[in-house]
Amino acid sequence: MTKDFAEVKKQLLDERQALFKEVQASYETCRELGQDGVPDIGDMSSVTYSRDVLFNLSATQKQRINDIDAALERIDKGEYGVCLECEEKISPRRMEVRPFSRYCIDCKTDIEKSGQ
Ligand SMILES: [Zn+2]
Repeated sequence: MTKDFAEVKKQLLDERQALFKEVQASYETCRELGQDGVPDIGDMSSVTYSRDVLFNLSATQKQRINDIDAALERIDKGEYGVCLECEEKISPRRMEVRPFSRYCIDCKTDIEKSGQ
């Protein structure tokens, strides 16, 4: 792959920043929901529901931030775009769709089949 990673890196950093803001916003909303005083029972369930949704959402976003951090680290180490499993280059097309892929499509499929 001859593509300049500086551009990829910038993209990842931008995405990381955006995710970080989203996570923060989720936490803010969670806190606001939690400080709503004592809602009646009808409201209570919707508050719990919203908090669960937000909690799950922020967990997913944090996972994504971790993925991005790992990708940035691999760019720095010169391991970016190389499959962790078979050490073959991951197709540029795949890296474009999923910039923080750690496995080539074959290995990823194998891993998913084995239930990890
Ligand atoms: Zn592989």
